[in-house]
Amino acid sequence: QVITRFAPSPTGYLHIGGARTALFNWLYARGRGGKFLLRIEDTDRARSTPEATEALLKGLAWLGLDHDGEVISQFERADRHAEVAHELLAKGAAYKCFATQEEIEAFREAARAEGRSTLFQSPWRDADPATHPDAPYVIRLKTPQDGHTIIKDEVQGEVKIGNDQLDDMILLRSDGTPVYMLAVVVDDHDMGVTHVIRGDDHLNNAARQMGIYTAMGWPVPVYAHIPLIHGPDGKKLSKRHGAVGVEEYQVMGYPAAGMRNYLARLGWSHGDDEFFTDEQAKEWFNLEGIGKSPSRLDFKKLENICGQHIAAADDAALLHELEAFLKAAGKPDLTEVQKDGMQRGMYCLKDRAKTFPELLEKAEFIMASRPIQPDEKAAKALDDVSRGILNQLTSQLQNASWSREELEAAANSVAETNGVKFGKMAGPIRAALAGRAVTPSVFDMMLVLGQQESLLRLEEASA
Ligand code: GLU
Repeated sequence: QVITRFAPSPTGYLHIGGARTALFNWLYARGRGGKFLLRIEDTDRARSTPEATEALLKGLAWLGLDHDGEVISQFERADRHAEVAHELLAKGAAYKCFATQEEIEAFREAARAEGRSTLFQSPWRDADPATHPDAPYVIRLKTPQDGHTIIKDEVQGEVKIGNDQLDDMILLRSDGTPVYMLAVVVDDHDMGVTHVIRGDDHLNNAARQMGIYTAMGWPVPVYAHIPLIHGPDGKKLSKRHGAVGVEEYQVMGYPAAGMRNYLARLGWSHGDDEFFTDEQAKEWFNLEGIGKSPSRLDFKKLENICGQHIAAADDAALLHELEAFLKAAGKPDLTEVQKDGMQRGMYCLKDRAKTFPELLEKAEFIMASRPIQPDEKAAKALDDVSRGILNQLTSQLQNASWSREELEAAANSVAETNGVKFGKMAGPIRAALAGRAVTPSVFDMMLVLGQQESLLRLEEASA
């Protein structure tokens, strides 16, 4: 069974790069009947506040990346990490090192002076335990001194690192706390992780982590180190490129499904497919499709894909997500009347809206209440002539059955009587119904508002 995980360190928000890493792991597991686990790497106690963890969970929840099992705290597993360090010690795969900071410094200085590698070589590596002093010590891993460590990476290919580049890393500090590298390996092993998909800034760590797996006789997981996300200018992503936290995208009103689709395409491809559903993504996602070079954020593409997802979404689900957006953005909830109107109007609102704010803009005629206050542009469409025409339309519509055909027929007949094209009438009708010059189609608005409300608005505008 495939088991993947997302292992963020709490930073106070879910970074878009982290979100993409989580998504890749989620897709890989979900597409293979596997498990997707979540571990918070909270060993940095200063940063690891409950709020920081909460922010990560909220970002994942918004994106719909559900995880299996409990959220695992790395910090809480420190005893287990130490236990493994001692197991390695007992096996002879690790040793106690009593070198002091001064001794290590002196070693490095001498090495530098002689032009040798400054990687510390502990004199305690092969020391007889009988000679051990009663002094503080760290536990170091006995790393092979020759040969290579080869990372078989599904994205980067074979990465070969000379073992002479790796020192005998510390596993357990002198105060008994485990180092990060040990914690990751022990946690991944105990969690049964089979595939590690993470940022390629961890590629070098993989070589060290493999040393621990090998020493413990544990199987090494499949590695896929994915290139980072860059800004549109090709430079390392930073705040000046715009939003980097996932919740910022939520507040800007991008639908989660669009965001998932966009993030999936960021560094991974499936032929020419740009727009796809979650089901397709789960089925298609694979490690072979991950590119080797950094991907660039492209806001136009994001909007494009989000627009397609809004258009394709189920009306009721979209309304539900819109309400969640309003909450997240700190905007007032919809009233029941507005909700009803949105429900009826969603079919035309979702057309060509790329974000929830755009959808709401199109829904202004639903949100508005009488008397409609036309904005400057709309007011221009309401002159005496057009008021007269609106008047005629209003009486024609009094007894209409309120079907699209009948509304169109009535409008066309009024246009004909007055010798104007229907297009000429649309502006005044928009002004009357919405108070705006740009709105959904006038017939859609009339159908969504219903007969009574539409007629009242038309009457008030033509008075
Ligand atoms: N905690 C690490 C990070 O946030 C990830 C470690 C890993 O995936 O192995 O970058």
